[in-house]
Amino acid sequence: MIMKKTNVLKGIATAPGITIAKAFLYRKEIESISSEEINDIAEAQISLKEAIEKSKKELGKIFELAVKKLGEKRAAIFEAQMMILEDNILIDTLLNRIDKEKKAPEYIVHDEITKYQNLMNASTEFYMKERSQDIEDIKNRIIRNLKNKKWKSKIDNDVIVVSENVTPADTVLFTRANVKGYITNFGGITSHAAILARSLRIPAVLGVHEATAKIEDNDLIILDGYHGEIIINPTEKQVEYYQDKIERLATFDTELLTLRDEPAVTIDGQKYIIQANLDVNEEIEFVIQNGAHGIGLVRTEQLYNVLENFPDEETQFKEYCDLANKLYPHSVTIRAFDIGGDKVLPLDLKEPNPMLGWRGIRFLLDHQNLFKTQIKAILRASVNQNVKFMIPMVSSIAEVNKTKMLIDECKKELEEKGLKFNPNMEFGIMIEVPSAALMIRDFGKCVSFFSVGTNDLIQYLLAVDRGNEIVSSSYQEFHPAVIRALEFMVHEAKITNTPMNICGEMAADHYAVPIIIGLGFHALSVNASEIPYIKKIINNLSFKECRVLVKECLKLTTEDEIKSRILKFYKERFTEFVDKIFENNNR
Ligand code: PEP
Ligand code: MG
Repeated sequence: MIMKKTNVLKGIATAPGITIAKAFLYRKEIESISSEEINDIAEAQISLKEAIEKSKKELGKIFELAVKKLGEKRAAIFEAQMMILEDNILIDTLLNRIDKEKKAPEYIVHDEITKYQNLMNASTEFYMKERSQDIEDIKNRIIRNLKNKKWKSKIDNDVIVVSENVTPADTVLFTRANVKGYITNFGGITSHAAILARSLRIPAVLGVHEATAKIEDNDLIILDGYHGEIIINPTEKQVEYYQDKIERLATFDTELLTLRDEPAVTIDGQKYIIQANLDVNEEIEFVIQNGAHGIGLVRTEQLYNVLENFPDEETQFKEYCDLANKLYPHSVTIRAFDIGGDKVLPLDLKEPNPMLGWRGIRFLLDHQNLFKTQIKAILRASVNQNVKFMIPMVSSIAEVNKTKMLIDECKKELEEKGLKFNPNMEFGIMIEVPSAALMIRDFGKCVSFFSVGTNDLIQYLLAVDRGNEIVSSSYQEFHPAVIRALEFMVHEAKITNTPMNICGEMAADHYAVPIIIGLGFHALSVNASEIPYIKKIINNLSFKECRVLVKECLKLTTEDEIKSRILKFYKERFTEFVDKIFENNNR
């Protein structure tokens, strides 16, 4: 196969924003470890103590910075690392082993801490596996200090950092150098680094295949964190285009914010609810500021990432109540942990096909205690009356029935404890697996609402990995089968009188809005920054015309034909504002 030569790399759009800056390759040296015998045991022991003290100081500084930039809760990641450095049992073991084995302290540190890590990796507790990753960071820090080496923490100012991987500590350090963005070979949207990038508002594209091999120091880079695109050494035209886009984005964003309190209504009077998807709780103020009519999807797996563990009932209850209170009287739809797939959390769980594996509701039903803890927290938060609950990756009625049994059990347990909840809390499912899409009529008899997750639905309908850039051209939102499936789904949901909203990325694609309206969706949940755009588009559309457009598209047989038809539709109707809208959409 002849690969097209291009200066564009695709990755995962992890943290929004567009930035143009020089690349800075951030490499961490792998320290070599010698197992040779040493002569001076006392000196080795002193070196170890000094290295530990030095590591503590370094970590202390990172912790302080993290508290300032991220707040106490998130900075706790580093506090936990500090506790390892203060573990006297570990330190004594290290000192004793130096004495007995007469080996260099870096060898002992490496060997002893790796043993701990292996134990943790073998644990069935995901928390332990995740901790093992933090210990790796600490291990390398002590070894480097033993060798008196400075980590390459000095980063040029105002650069885009390119690295194989980044740790939370790296991310915090980047803020010191006013890093403009970052790109990694590995890592996904749910990694710690990704979450921190969003909180720190540093545009980031992760999972860019071989980024460190393809990008060199000082290459000029355009990073588009909205669409997960990187342009290496762009042409003058590309730079101009993006610079202009940055400026227009800023002015247009300010203009659009005037729509904050306006409803979304088509010119022929159809009303729409535009909600936000919430990926990190810190986004909440932004969600409110952008005029969301509630939250259509809370991706609760983020709590696991932030808190480094599946949080207990009380912690979850507080988080969910906080969201519900802030959004009241609008509703908040909390989705159960969507674990697995591309959001693989258990570190050593190597499934042959994670996307088809232990994911979403399958994982939750196999971890009932974890699931029930979450259900109880959500039920308790539902006293606010504006909380809804939904489950991801549903493929069979049995999964719904089992979940409903668990919800009933949870209600009983809460009652026994005298804890309040809304007995009629709405329970819905994500429609993101073709089998569920085909059985909507049956599901409609057992749930109160549907939420269409097009990200996964497209992946499973077209058999295309949503995160694999090699097949990204086959991942087609406007594939005729997608439009036809959505038409079928909305039709079936209407028959059972079950509300159906849409929360996949397709709802935020400006090209798709007339299709979504024409298909008959009345509630869209999108990334908060897209809300004003979507409102603006809807306010300029006519439902009747959108319906005609959909009917025409349903007859077409290729994505290209459908895209051209939509473009023609836009061109015929709008001129000035549509140009602005589409500048910010390069899908
Ligand atoms: C989806 O699949 O469209 C969806 C909204 O869920 P997620 O992206 O979290 O898998
Ligand atoms: Mg999904």
